[in-house]
Amino acid sequence: MRLARFRRGDRISTGTIEDEVARPLRGTFFEDPIPTGDAFPLTEVRLLAPLIPSKVVCVGRNYIEHAEELGSDVPEEPLLFMKPSTAVIGPGDAIRMPPESARVDHEGELGVVIGLPCRRVSEEEALKCVLGFTCGNDVTARDLQRKDGQWTRAKGFDSFCPLGPWVETELDPGDLEIATRVNGETRQRARTSDMIFSPATLISYVSQVMTLLPGDVILTGTPSGVGPLSPGDGVEVEVEGIGVLSNDVVASG
Ligand code: MG
Repeated sequence: MRLARFRRGDRISTGTIEDEVARPLRGTFFEDPIPTGDAFPLTEVRLLAPLIPSKVVCVGRNYIEHAEELGSDVPEEPLLFMKPSTAVIGPGDAIRMPPESARVDHEGELGVVIGLPCRRVSEEEALKCVLGFTCGNDVTARDLQRKDGQWTRAKGFDSFCPLGPWVETELDPGDLEIATRVNGETRQRARTSDMIFSPATLISYVSQVMTLLPGDVILTGTPSGVGPLSPGDGVEVEVEGIGVLSNDVVASG
């Protein structure tokens, strides 16, 4: 099932997307929502970020070739950092390049969406906490990442966390193609089976540190091929079995 948030007129709804039809739900994704009975052609709604997470937990260097292209070591444990919820934008929203950075990169990633509160879950139990999966773009001010040493500023600008276009709830994340295109040209292509730490391992690892809440997102790291974005570019992140997350890039934060 595809779970989405969408706007129609002044009204924002949660709902399902099936066969190009959006069907609103009453209630949240996390509490057995009930269909309202309404149905709208997908062309009549504007998709929004599928959820507003309390936190977005990200994983650095989770693909060997990406660690190598940055000249970094492959970590022995997952390398965690966070993006603020205010960085989240939805499909079709603009990535805004801040004036503080001269080098903003795309990082296409698989996003894990948490469905149940989880704290210190085992790897074996971890996927039971998952609502579904979405596409994410861990937009990064690469120059500021190198300059600052820690990554809060480089990763945390408003609009630096596109998510969507929806949450796919029936998906095995183990071996999916993930691709990032800029203006139609493929920049990144890999399979999720190339990850060093699997989604289940990451959920378990993060949950030893912090309680994961429904709607929280774990971005599972980017493959090799990261590169710069410029104003006017169109960037797409596609994950097999989910869909395509598209955003344009504009100047100025
Ligand atoms: Mg990343």
